[in-house]
Amino acid sequence: MEIVSVIGSGTMGRGIAFSSAVAGFTTFVQDINEGALNTCKSYIEKQFNRYVEKGELTGNEADAAINRIRYTTELEEAAKDADLVIEAVLEIMDLKIEIFKQLDRLVKPSTILATNTSTMSPTEIAAQTSRPDRCIALHFFNPVPKMKLIEVICGLETSEETITKSFEFGRALGKECVKINEFPGFAVSRMNCLIGNEAMNMVMEGVGTVEDIDKAIKLGLNHPMGPLELADLVGLDTRLRNMEYLYKTLGEKYRPCPVLVKYVKAGRLGKKSGKGFYNYNWQGEGKWISV
Ligand code: NAD
Repeated sequence: MEIVSVIGSGTMGRGIAFSSAVAGFTTFVQDINEGALNTCKSYIEKQFNRYVEKGELTGNEADAAINRIRYTTELEEAAKDADLVIEAVLEIMDLKIEIFKQLDRLVKPSTILATNTSTMSPTEIAAQTSRPDRCIALHFFNPVPKMKLIEVICGLETSEETITKSFEFGRALGKECVKINEFPGFAVSRMNCLIGNEAMNMVMEGVGTVEDIDKAIKLGLNHPMGPLELADLVGLDTRLRNMEYLYKTLGEKYRPCPVLVKYVKAGRLGKKSGKGFYNYNWQGEGKWISV
């Protein structure tokens, strides 16, 4: 594999693109929204500066990786030479299917099409293409450059070759991969969404403040972040879509907490909008701090 394309330049797309370029792949980032693409570019360049400041990359390594990234709004330009395409658009099944159908027509016969869905069925997406054996879900975690895991989720028709190449790609990025057989929410989202939703229910029931519930789970269960802090990082709109899908497929225990529904209706989307369970101050260039 030499050329990787990332479709969608939001929270996840920009992290996947950064990690792919650092690993030496020529990396295309495509988004229909030019503003999102510009935000992604400035975020990625800022990330490289931070890595150089911390001594994790040399200036030359960072410059070379920056030069490996191409930004475009044109799907065909991003897709036509790619060996691997990773879709990271909104968690909406119809949208993912539409993009996979277009990609199927644009890419080379050998290209692997991957979705970064957190919960949804790669089999259902793959069935709409002419290459279900070369479709897979690669579930990265947020923030991608820091998080070690990729869940490799095999659809019904995913071939052994596609799984092997996906593991090789993961290893090239310095990640640990686990093979998961398809089931709604896979392993991590199925567990994590439940913890986050329960924390939101506790806030609603007055069990404790947002800060105290996060502190209790962090220190009591030795989690690196509180579940409400994590939901803000993920994006409350993304989390609500995850919960709605899991509620539809796995039933009552995944019913989205009414507080989550209300916050999304109000435009409180977490860190990316400046307000979620916590308030954040905009520091410029893709950086928020909590206040
Ligand atoms: P996001 O809202 O931050 O970004 C989505 C991007 O997709 C936006 O920039 C948007 O302009 C772009 N987009 C929308 N329609 C498009 C189209 N037709 N073509 C190209 N680009 C398009 O979303 P996100 O949080 O990055 O989530 C992306 C995917 O990753 C979802 O499936 C989500 O479930 C999954 N995921 C998210 C997280 C997380 O922590 N946020 C973690 C793991 C997986």
